Amino acid sequence: MKKTNIIAAAAVLLLTSCTDRTPYQEQISFFSMDTYMEITAYGHVNGSLADCKDEIYRLEALLAVTDEASDIGRLNAAGTADVSPDTAEIIKYAKQIGGETGGALDITVYPVLKEWGFTTGDYNVPDKDTLNTLLQRVDFTQIQVEENTVPAVAVPSGVQLDLGALAKGYASDKAAGILRQQGITSALINLGGNIMAIGENPGSGAPWRIGIRTPFSLDENIGVIEVTDKAVVTSGSYERCFTAEDGQTYHHIIDPATGCPARSGLVSATVVGDSGIMCDALSTALFVMGADKAAEYHREKGGFDMILVTEEGEILITEGVADSFTNLANLPLTVLG
Ligand code: AMP
Ligand code: MG
Repeated sequence: MKKTNIIAAAAVLLLTSCTDRTPYQEQISFFSMDTYMEITAYGHVNGSLADCKDEIYRLEALLAVTDEASDIGRLNAAGTADVSPDTAEIIKYAKQIGGETGGALDITVYPVLKEWGFTTGDYNVPDKDTLNTLLQRVDFTQIQVEENTVPAVAVPSGVQLDLGALAKGYASDKAAGILRQQGITSALINLGGNIMAIGENPGSGAPWRIGIRTPFSLDENIGVIEVTDKAVVTSGSYERCFTAEDGQTYHHIIDPATGCPARSGLVSATVVGDSGIMCDALSTALFVMGADKAAEYHREKGGFDMILVTEEGEILITEGVADSFTNLANLPLTVLG
């Protein structure tokens, strides 16, 4: 097996510029949840960046699938565990989105991910029989969440969870909450490509400009989206992948219907909305669903915008963000009604 590309979910680059009018700013960067994180806040920052980092470390200790002592580690080992309210909330939300997306988001896909080696980097292409056996353990509807003072979660034997598809989005909401509570009205939270933009750019007084990386050439941006008080999250097939001896490239977003990396015709799905956990959960789910089902889901549910990039190099964008998007790569673009 040859590792061709392991980039920690950094699908989105920030385009920021400092001008003379940029007020005092502070920045913190650290590694957590298997990715590089950077938070920049403007104005009277005081200790709020350290508070954000502490909060993200706290969440990592609860959610990390590779940590035997985390809520998820204990649950996966024993089939039942008392968990923190945060863990219970994320699981409940994942079940809801799992239901709404016809199972495209399924946080019980972990046994399959492990077999492919995406959790360890020790990659392997499983055979059909192995996948079919493992798929019997993939079913998010089997997760029971009991809401007591100390919530409890239970799963049938063999069912295991991984919250990697939405944990960073939840963490970005928590970090944004801390900053807002401490009076910060302008900040950029970048949790490995999971962006939460607070307020607007204090230097220019204009919306934040978030670059969306082209899946075809990782050094360039396919376009730029201008946002104020929004989360911007991208899931892409180019983020964490490997090329096997069969010459094929396999990526880390699994279609729970097949147990194989989703081949939906998309190379990336970017979701823009108010909530980080929603954008994170949906970017993964919509990637699995592909353009037609994603457009249908958007028409039915609403409450978010999206930018899809197809394998053919076409951009599909919803009306709500069409005017805020600059098509830098000049790819053919369709606005979805
Ligand atoms: P993201 O980068 O947010 O799209 O999340 C991808 C991560 O979520 C993967 O690295 C896996 O840990 C996990 N995952 C992959 N496929 C799925 C799926 N269909 N449903 C839920 N989690 C998934
Ligand atoms: Mg996601």
